[in-house]
Amino acid sequence: MDLYEHMGKDVFRAHGVPVPRGIVADSAEGGAAAARELGGSAVVKVQVQVGGRGKAGGVVLCRTPDEARDAAAGMLGASFKGLPVTRVLVEELLPIAREFYTSVLLDRSTGAYLWLLTAEGGMDIETLAQDRPQALRRLHVNPGLGLRPWHVRELVAALPVQAREPAADVLRAMWTVVLEADATLVEINPLVQLEDGSVVALDAKLSIDDNALFRHPDLEALADQFPLDPVERRAKEADLQYVKLDGDVGIIGNGAGLVMSTLDVVAQAGANAANFLDIGGGASADKMATSLQVILSDPAVRCVFINIFGGITRCDVVANGILAALRTVEATVPLVVRLDGTNAQEGRRILAAAAHPRIVPVATMDDAAAEAARLAKEPAA
Ligand code: GDP
Ligand code: MN
Repeated sequence: MDLYEHMGKDVFRAHGVPVPRGIVADSAEGGAAAARELGGSAVVKVQVQVGGRGKAGGVVLCRTPDEARDAAAGMLGASFKGLPVTRVLVEELLPIAREFYTSVLLDRSTGAYLWLLTAEGGMDIETLAQDRPQALRRLHVNPGLGLRPWHVRELVAALPVQAREPAADVLRAMWTVVLEADATLVEINPLVQLEDGSVVALDAKLSIDDNALFRHPDLEALADQFPLDPVERRAKEADLQYVKLDGDVGIIGNGAGLVMSTLDVVAQAGANAANFLDIGGGASADKMATSLQVILSDPAVRCVFINIFGGITRCDVVANGILAALRTVEATVPLVVRLDGTNAQEGRRILAAAAHPRIVPVATMDDAAAEAARLAKEPAA
């Protein structure tokens, strides 16, 4: 789970990573009030889960509460890089002397944490890693042994002498965040040294291990504050496993394995999935209707591929389920249906007898994928 900057900074604060004073606002007036509270001048930062806000106008330095009001109004009124904006973070303006970069990332390939640090902050870290790798300190921290004094010394040696001690305190506090919050990523870009010598996290990117969320009910509860795609919300309410992708074939299948192979055959046929939905066992008419509603409400879908392998689920029940669903849901695009397994013959007979104008029954998975790919490329009827 990725946290918003302001949430990450709350976690930082709780574990001793210094951050600027800040107030979250969800209105222009709230933005002005926050700036007033912080002494008049402030930086207003859009809260979305995407980087590069600074370059895209998502971080605005304001000298007065009026400027903060305008900045907040501009951000809250619009989406940012396609993402909805529901809040801004208003922070005290700090006098920055130097900008650095540091991050700790769970490196699954080595079973350790990879720590990165560079004195060249403010730069794009991927670019730096490529162009000037010698400027980037990297070392692994074994989770069993923990962060050792020599790790810290080795890392801060990349910084100017006067920044090393306060930065070392920040690194130790970051490690506490990793351990206490089960973080898989802690990134501070920029980590800054202020004119008074102190070192502060000006930005916070924090990811929490989803599998550890049960240990952090307070963090898990934050998920309610993330805007959910309306289609995903509907699927969630109906207890369906739905995933949004970026192609144009909608996919409904029963069972995770079958759904995954359906994605593969569709890709082999030269198309891409717009989304997929696993209806699991027991494809009742109700479940099929909700599934179709969910899949069809995605405007990117040009064709739906329903791929069912009957086991305990009987294909005749599924066929009737599809037909019943189509009495309540309007099929706006063709539905390619492949039924195999238990009672497939009967299921296919039911579909053939119904002769629904939108249903295209196909006997094998490969042929169905090819047909779905072809239909998805046809101009809309
Ligand atoms: P990002 O671009 O999404 O990573 O957003 P950041 O939080 O990293 O902010 C981008 C840039 O805004 C930083 O690199 C700073 O240069 C600048 N900035 C942010 N907060 C302050 C502040 O309090 N004072 C000053 N002078 N600059 C700031
Ligand atoms: Mn940043």
